[in-house]
Amino acid sequence: PDRRFAESRPAKQHSRREIESSCMSNRLSWIEQELATLEQQSLLRVKTTRESPPVGGLVQVDGRQFINFGSNDYLGIAASEELVQAVHHTIGQVGFGAGSSPLVNGRGTLHRKLETELAIFEGTESALLFPTGYAANVGTICSIVGPGDVVCSDQLNHASIIDGCRLSGARIEVYPHRNVDRLAEILAQSTSFGRRLIVTDGLFSMDGDIAPLNALCALAEKFEAMVMVDEAHATGVLGDNGRGSCESSGVENRVDIRVGTLSKALGTFGGFVVGSESLTRWIFNRARPYVFSTAQPEIIAAASSAALKIVVEQPHRRTELLNRATQLRKQLLTAGFDLRDSNSQIIPVVIGRPDETIRLSKHLMDCGIYVPAIRPPSVPAGASRLRISLSYDHKEPQIEALVRGLIAKV
Ligand code: PMP
Repeated sequence: PDRRFAESRPAKQHSRREIESSCMSNRLSWIEQELATLEQQSLLRVKTTRESPPVGGLVQVDGRQFINFGSNDYLGIAASEELVQAVHHTIGQVGFGAGSSPLVNGRGTLHRKLETELAIFEGTESALLFPTGYAANVGTICSIVGPGDVVCSDQLNHASIIDGCRLSGARIEVYPHRNVDRLAEILAQSTSFGRRLIVTDGLFSMDGDIAPLNALCALAEKFEAMVMVDEAHATGVLGDNGRGSCESSGVENRVDIRVGTLSKALGTFGGFVVGSESLTRWIFNRARPYVFSTAQPEIIAAASSAALKIVVEQPHRRTELLNRATQLRKQLLTAGFDLRDSNSQIIPVVIGRPDETIRLSKHLMDCGIYVPAIRPPSVPAGASRLRISLSYDHKEPQIEALVRGLIAKV
């Protein structure tokens, strides 16, 4: 492995006894029991260490090399020369840490440049950078609804949307996944609330299907509700220009608020929200994750600008990725796998039980293939799955190996 990625050891190893006495373990003994319960239920998570950059559809994890179907680097640009060069060129000028939150003086010229570029790319008046996509969702939702308001949220929305809804203090109405009839009933019954918001993932992170955005916008217009779409997995991938699910569904002008992340197809880090100038001004006046977190290091903004350029100038990356995804879905459907309604580069192979899902994931690892086992609470109970994330970086033989590995065991 590349020595730059080797884990450094702590200077002194403490004995278990020292550690236990220092954290007064008897008052925390319940944790050991809870962890044992999680293990029995096949729900215990373990930390893994990636020891190589994600290149060529491969990854080294805990000393072993795998074909990597567990990365959101959908366009294969996270470790690209362009991004590395962008960081090299700017770090000497801007240093590393931003030093303070954006409203104090942590927002630098490279952040401003990226916000301008994002607004141009998205075709909106304005863009606002957040430290992460998680913070963008929480901060945005809490800025636009609160106590006395109602937020209608798809049952399979990402955790950051769920947490934003909870923190906002608004009444939360969860509608069954993509069920616009139920959403219409909820909206019809919610006239006593102040502001109303419909919030949805554009491309669902665990199912790979797309929200019924036309129908959602029609309901929003009928019931005078605001619409917010999280484009985390769709930015750079869907739409003729790679702007995401709102573009591919033709509803960009009907959606009030779009949130995105730079950490997936753009291969860098950080979140953003785009919309009108007054919307972003309101959000940076109100969003606590924006106001109370240090701004991202500027070199990350430099890398994101380089990534955005690749998205704009190399559309073949997304078209080839989506073609390959269509091919792979066809093969897996023919082999009888349950892929839910996946229509994208995210392909769930739904197994059901968590222990069975882990068994399959381990079997694939024995074949040199990394496909993460996704279990509750990331997905509902009984819907554990292997989640295949396809990337532009994958080569034909790597995808064939995956199909062979899956068919061999099921
Ligand atoms: N929204 C969705 C749908 C996501 O899947 C994620 C990341 N898993 C986020 C938001 C958060 O993005 P970030 O990783 O940049 O915090």
